[in-house]
Amino acid sequence: MTQVPILTYHANNINGMAYQNNDHVALQEDLQLIHDLGFRIISLDELMQWKAGNMSDSEFEKTVVLTCDDGTWFDYHDVDHPTYGKQISFFNILKNHQQQTHTPVHMSNFVIVSPAARVILDEKCLVGRGWWTDDWWLAAQKSGLMAIENHSWDHNHGVLDNKNADDDSFKAIDNQADCDRQLKQSQEFLSRFFAGQHPVKYFAYPYGNFSDFLRYEYLPTQGTQLGLVAAFTTEPKHVTSKSHLWAMPRYVCNNDWNNTEQLKNLLLA
Ligand SMILES: [Zn+2]
Repeated sequence: MTQVPILTYHANNINGMAYQNNDHVALQEDLQLIHDLGFRIISLDELMQWKAGNMSDSEFEKTVVLTCDDGTWFDYHDVDHPTYGKQISFFNILKNHQQQTHTPVHMSNFVIVSPAARVILDEKCLVGRGWWTDDWWLAAQKSGLMAIENHSWDHNHGVLDNKNADDDSFKAIDNQADCDRQLKQSQEFLSRFFAGQHPVKYFAYPYGNFSDFLRYEYLPTQGTQLGLVAAFTTEPKHVTSKSHLWAMPRYVCNNDWNNTEQLKNLLLA
């Protein structure tokens, strides 16, 4: 049976300069492994074409999808980390890899949409230097290397003044008003931001989890009307033709695998 893994990285994961504590180091090594194993990187659009039955299974043997979450400067700009020095952005790692291998390279970036929330997150979770802006979204999208997708309005993040805040959960987003706030508001913002040039179709659940209302009621009806076609969890499984559109699985770097040997086993599973 054809099955495709989606790999997820976090550019904010910088706690050293080793694979196990820095997703930039991990991504660089993983791209080399993916190339050496003869896997082809495909976009979420291509994955969904296959899942819809529009492409033959044989074309999707040995393919992999790359995604990343949260959308800070570490995704796009090279940044001097106050403790660990210069970090090559995910975008530049992808670009360098493409220039070296002449193979298709693509990553879908699930960004936190609210500008006001990003200002506070930048102060409280990064170092308050304005590294959580959206100045790079258009350039990333236009490059064809990195697509911008939806990771909710404000992540229901605990450092924000959020009545629903729960340490690691999006499950509290379980009613019409909260779903509108997190999804409708963000889809409308992104639609204006890209002025119709890039319809945002994919949503990644913050913390990888969801309420039944969001998953079974809101997304299949109102989510569809907002232009969404699939939502992604962090359930560590491959995507198959049977995966549910509103609960597509993803593996997370330095959680579901911690070195290239483990990734190799995962890819060849
Ligand atoms: Zn996130």
